[in-house]
Formats: sequence, C-alpha cells, structure tokens
Amino acid sequence: MILSENVLHPDMISRFETSHPHATGLIQPLDVYWNLPWKNLLKKFTNYVLNFHPDFLIAQRNNELSMVSVLYHQISAREFRPFLRYAWKKSGYLDKDANEPQFTTPANYCMDQAASGDCYIIGCKESGCLKCARCKNWVCFDHLLVSQLHLCPFFLIFFVNSFRL
Ligand SMILES: [Zn+2]
Ligand SMILES: [Zn+2]
Repeated sequence: MILSENVLHPDMISRFETSHPHATGLIQPLDVYWNLPWKNLLKKFTNYVLNFHPDFLIAQRNNELSMVSVLYHQISAREFRPFLRYAWKKSGYLDKDANEPQFTTPANYCMDQAASGDCYIIGCKESGCLKCARCKNWVCFDHLLVSQLHLCPFFLIFFVNSFRL
C-alpha cells in the first residue's frame, strides 16, 4: 500500500508492506536482533534484584514499571546506536558497512563490567549495580530505582514514594 500525497508530505511518502506469516524472525528488526538483547538485560537485572534485593518485589506494579522504565531508558541510549542499527542491517533494511563497527549489548555494557565502581551520588557509599550508558556513571540500586529513578540526561528524578498510592 502506498500512502498518497493527500495524507503525507511528498517527501515523506511511505510504503507499507505486510510480511509473510512466520517471516518476522527474518525481516522484523525487533525479532531479528532486539528482543533477545532486551530480554537478556531484563533477565540479568531481575536476577541481580532477586539475589541482592529480595525485599524489592518486582511483581508489584510500580516496582515493575520503574524497573522497565529505567532499563528501557538504558537500551535507548546513544551508546547503543550501533547495536540498534545492527537490527536493521541484519534484517536487510540497511546496508552493512565494510568495517562493521563493534558494539556491545546493553546487558554487557550495563551489567557485565569486570569491576563495578562506586555509586556516583555524592555521599553514597554503595557499589554501583548498573553502569549508565548515558552519563557513564555507576549507580547503586537505591539511587537507580528505589529512592530515585535514574533517568538521565534529563535528570528527571522521581521520588517513588510520591506517586505510590
Ligand atoms: Zn546516567
Ligand atoms: Zn547510590
């Protein structure tokens, strides 16, 4: 289906096609190379929480939403642009570069560092549980997800308790 100029600006004509059934794993970028790294990041962080912060109940709606928000904020960081572009290349929508840039997955970057640093918050003595792909700082669990939501670079800090019912 081709949208007409009546709907879109002539420079923005888009062509929509429906893929064949059972072909999404071959041509749908999210299926080809995004969902699995995303699930890996979720799984690694979930395992960390279960092991080190079992009192943080992931099954509680606000906790789960906070966790997904923070992790989605990470995976959408500029740091992962080569990773995100690779899904489109592997699906055949973008040409592969002759020298394909090396990239790291979000789970590797954020959680698989050889040694974690201290939390970047002044006065906090906790070790970081995640390296932020946006500000490159280590953030402890409390300042990532409990007393604050680490959603930089906008530094939108929500005190979780303020929106709990
Ligand atoms: Zn940050
Ligand atoms: Zn901290």
